[in-house]
Amino acid sequence: MNDHDSERIAGLLEEMGLARSATPEGADLLVYNTCSIREKADNRLAGHLGTAARLKREDGEKLVVVAGCLAQSRRTEFLADFPFVDIVVGPQNLHQLPTLLQRRLACGAPVGAFDEATTSWSADLPRCRVPGPAAWVQIVAGCSNFCSYCIVPYVRGPEASRPAADILAEVARLVADGVRQVTFLGQNVNAYGKEPGFAGRERFADILERSTSVPGLARIRFMTSHPKDVSDALIDVMARPNQVCEHLHLPAQSGSDRILSAMRRGYDRRGYLDLVRRLRGAVPDLALTTDLIVGFPGESEDDFMDTVSLVEECGFDGAYTFVYSPRAQTDAARLPGRSTCEVTERRMGRLVTVVQEAAKDRNQALLGRTVEVMVERPSRQRSGEVMGRTRGHKPVNFTSGAAPGELVMVELTEATSTSFRGRRVA
Ligand code: SAH
Ligand code: SF4
Repeated sequence: MNDHDSERIAGLLEEMGLARSATPEGADLLVYNTCSIREKADNRLAGHLGTAARLKREDGEKLVVVAGCLAQSRRTEFLADFPFVDIVVGPQNLHQLPTLLQRRLACGAPVGAFDEATTSWSADLPRCRVPGPAAWVQIVAGCSNFCSYCIVPYVRGPEASRPAADILAEVARLVADGVRQVTFLGQNVNAYGKEPGFAGRERFADILERSTSVPGLARIRFMTSHPKDVSDALIDVMARPNQVCEHLHLPAQSGSDRILSAMRRGYDRRGYLDLVRRLRGAVPDLALTTDLIVGFPGESEDDFMDTVSLVEECGFDGAYTFVYSPRAQTDAARLPGRSTCEVTERRMGRLVTVVQEAAKDRNQALLGRTVEVMVERPSRQRSGEVMGRTRGHKPVNFTSGAAPGELVMVELTEATSTSFRGRRVA
């Protein structure tokens, strides 16, 4: 979502007549698009702002913009703590960036905009798309779930779905522009259309279904899906032969009922496992990936082992593993029972090993198969090779002169836990 927001920031600035600079030193405007989901992202920004302060000391004419959810969550401190920052803009207010820039230039004092009414649906902003055959299409903004650890609902506001006609028009425009694959985006993408007050009748599976009729569109992906919002209709549209890829990113977060309940996830271990069974039954080639959190307040060794066994039972194709990061504003930040660094590090090490082993087993089971791969770009490692992805979103490197966006058939010959080598057969 942040990458896509950055495309929009670039699009807005291009529309104002600005052009991308090759180096920060050569730029008149420095834009930092921030994330506040975990502390690590906060810390990284601190380093970047150090560079911005130095560049501004060297050239007082430069303007510094901080956008995104960290700007939103720290809006009061930001302009006070970082006097060299000129413009601060929250993720729901990106459309105001041109006005803010003009105001800053006119008045000479720092300016900011945050938290505007949540109806400020900004998916229709211009975008400066990264060239290539794939594009993002945002279909839901915000999140209304308030998982106890998560800052997203505070910084991006409640769920708001985009009208189906606008989504389909954007998909058609992108395809006319050469795009072969779209990825529908939402913090909780499969909650599309479920919020009270949504004017349309469509649900997420309808959006997928209707997109399959867009001529020229080769692949449809989406993320992130919440387990509690996976409907029979979604499973059904994934199970049918069409452009919807057999990949589901389905964050479990934990395998322990006690922790899932404290996280307020809205499902228990059994519910998650049942869902995975139904999905695997309906979509045999499904690649299933997940997010897992280690060290949630009060997590005992038994709770952690429940997460380990969940990974073993589900056989995930991959997982993002995060150390719990307390976020101000959230309820979990006030819970007792924080694990020590030593404990979380040990648990994380163990979990990563189990995830990698499961993913490697899943990949090795695919060796010898010939699968459809969409070429993305030339390989960064070897000249003459390209990198493409399977329908399960796994990278495959192989020798080919095929251009980005082409669909080719590739035999998978070698596997690691995260990628394949292959041989083009057609
Ligand atoms: N809406 C998606 C996830 C969006 S956030 C969902 O609910 O599934 C992406 C991931 O960041 C989450 O799945 C979670 O694993 C992680 N995350 C969010 N807040 C976190 C925190 N405070 N500490 C550690 N990880 C966190
Ligand atoms: Fe955060 Fe996802 Fe929970 Fe929303 S559903 S609060 S984005 S973890």
